[in-house]
Amino acid sequence: MHIRDILEQRTTSFSFEFFPPKTPASSDALFRSIAELERLRPSFVSVTYGAGGSTRQLTHDLVMRLKTETSLDPIPHLTCVCHDAAEIEGLLDRYASAGISNILALRGDPPIDRPDHRHEDDAYTFASELVEAIRSHNGHPDARGFGIGVAGFPEGHPECPDRTLEIEHLKTKVDAGADYICTQLFFENRDFFDFVERCRLAGIDIPIIAGIMPVTSLAGMKRMSSLALGARFPAPLLRAVDRTNGSNEAVARVGTHWATEQCRQLIDSGVEGIHFYTLNKSTATRDIFASLGVETSSQIDGSTRTTTNEPAA
Ligand code: FAD
Repeated sequence: MHIRDILEQRTTSFSFEFFPPKTPASSDALFRSIAELERLRPSFVSVTYGAGGSTRQLTHDLVMRLKTETSLDPIPHLTCVCHDAAEIEGLLDRYASAGISNILALRGDPPIDRPDHRHEDDAYTFASELVEAIRSHNGHPDARGFGIGVAGFPEGHPECPDRTLEIEHLKTKVDAGADYICTQLFFENRDFFDFVERCRLAGIDIPIIAGIMPVTSLAGMKRMSSLALGARFPAPLLRAVDRTNGSNEAVARVGTHWATEQCRQLIDSGVEGIHFYTLNKSTATRDIFASLGVETSSQIDGSTRTTTNEPAA
């Protein structure tokens, strides 16, 4: 379904992100998580694309498996770094002929073994140019073409210290034809609310989906910090984690509680969508849904529906 139709259906959309597994064992584990998350009836799920296209085939395979073996609507991520125009065109053709309706269009970062890579040497230097290429791709059977998502950074993208200029760059992506923005993960809702307000002031009026990632372990926190995603841990969260004395079970409870409170406030404030960075696991997301009062349905097409997760009448 085109993302514009998806986002019009619900007061708050819920969606999940997966990354393509690299081994049969991790694939089995992912599909166990997916079976549990499917019951939460997400509006869509998205599948990441490894740095520089390193998971090109794996991303495609997972997207196709989700499309053919589950009730989920998969949105592939696509990055233009280290790709030429023909490669992008080829990927778009494959997705169009497989009936994929939407793409999350990103510039991406060069892989670590390409430290000298220059973005200006790529066919598309910035994500806005990839959005234009997807918009002008005419192989999609939907008359509106692919629905297109782009990335937004509530705390700022690490490469652009000028926050005003950054919103102008985001507006360029929107003007190029993006249908929605999905944000980088953040832990302080006021950063998101301020970001949304700055977007609206700049004339960006497409839906903005909030990216939420529950902290579930100390190792995960360290990894997040080292990736320099442009998201900081607020002091109250760090203090709560500190009180756990390093127990991973307790850290997961703290992180899940924190993310639940973020979601509760976002929903109460009328957020258009919440996108969960699941890391291919289901427990934290299911716990958050349960605490939010978002009912799950044991039957995908059953009659047990929810208020929050229910298509608008
Ligand atoms: P752009 O929008 O092109 O912006 C990149 C930088 O360039 C920004 O600092 C921007 O301000 C600046 N800029 C933009 N236009 C101009 C201009 N005209 N002149 C000068 N500067 C400009 N990475 C992956 O590899 N795979 C994934 O699957 C993936 N999924 C993601 C999903 C989400 C929701 C998010 C938020 C990020 C994801 N990323 C992924 C990471 C993303 O690729 C990186 O953060 C990347 O550095 C920026 O991508 P972008 O699409 O925002 O780039």
